[in-house]
Amino acid sequence: MKVERRNLAEFTTLAVGGPAEVWTVETPRDLVQATAAPYRVLGNGSNLLVSDRGVPERVLRLGGVFAQGSLGRPRSEDAPHLSPWIGAGVLLPTLVQEAARLGLSGLEPLLGIPASVGGAVRMNAGTRFGEIADVLEAVELFHEGAFRVLDPSELGLGYRTSRLPGGAIVTRVRLRLTPAPAATIEARMAEVDAARKGQPKRKSAGCAFKNPPGDSAGRIIDRAGFKGHRVGAAMVSPEHGNFIVNTGGARAEDVWALVKRLQEELGLELEWEVWGEFP
Ligand SMILES: Cc1cc2nc3c(=O)[nH]c(=O)nc-3n(C[C@H](O)[C@H](O)[C@H](O)COP(=O)(O)OP(=O)(O)OC[C@H]3O[C@@H](n4cnc5c(N)ncnc54)[C@H](O)[C@@H]3O)c2cc1C
Repeated sequence: MKVERRNLAEFTTLAVGGPAEVWTVETPRDLVQATAAPYRVLGNGSNLLVSDRGVPERVLRLGGVFAQGSLGRPRSEDAPHLSPWIGAGVLLPTLVQEAARLGLSGLEPLLGIPASVGGAVRMNAGTRFGEIADVLEAVELFHEGAFRVLDPSELGLGYRTSRLPGGAIVTRVRLRLTPAPAATIEARMAEVDAARKGQPKRKSAGCAFKNPPGDSAGRIIDRAGFKGHRVGAAMVSPEHGNFIVNTGGARAEDVWALVKRLQEELGLELEWEVWGEFP
């Protein structure tokens, strides 16, 4: 196990966030030790806004056995394929590509989501084409010092949310996929990819705000004329109103000021999780 003081900006896709004690856990024993004091779990940092002051809790990253695993070869072309256990630290894009290579369908809707498997379960990551809940067979959690296997129906998976028990860490999952012809999978991936085309390429944490019922946060921000609006090096993307991007060297404080401005003027609800304190 590695314990280092690091800036969380190194581990978030928005590339902001101050210092914390980062515990990279590699074995079940590490997990027991690392969770003996207050902690937070970091996935791929793609849905987080972390304060410039960092956080006082231990920040756990899943490495070693928790970052290993693959989908396994399908045995039959007719029956559903149950994957072996896959570590929650594995990255979703790796699995999406592996599934396509193996002729397994089910993960195409998740193409382009830069999550870890654990973070994807926690947020029930997805697109309008489908979500991770659709392919989950079983989920292993580490909670209050013990490992437990749960049926996905016990996780309260909803629209970009779950109801994991407080402090629970997703450690492994099994997926249920369907063998399909390569051309079918490629066509589905092309459709999902096309739907993501307008997405900014700059550093971001994905959509900043939840879509209110019957409307889109991006359109609301666009209509209010906020595209291109800046605070310091943080900017509402000119391409997509619901993306706040780091144009280079942004501080969490800048991003936060933009978020507050949009929330106060437009009444939007934040999608990201916020770690640490803000002025
Ligand atoms: C360019 C871009 C595009 C995006 N597009 C989409 C999209 O189309 N659809 C979508 O749903 N999301 C999208 N996102 C948002 C993001 O990828 C998802 O919310 C994702 O599920 C976050 O996963 P993560 O591993 O990065 O989690 P993190 O951001 O690291 O953490 C998010 C939350 O999950 C918790 N968590 C992480 N790992 C675990 C674990 N192992 N056990 C328990 N809790 C854990 C964290 O403590 C935190 O509460 C996008 C983000 C970016 C940057």
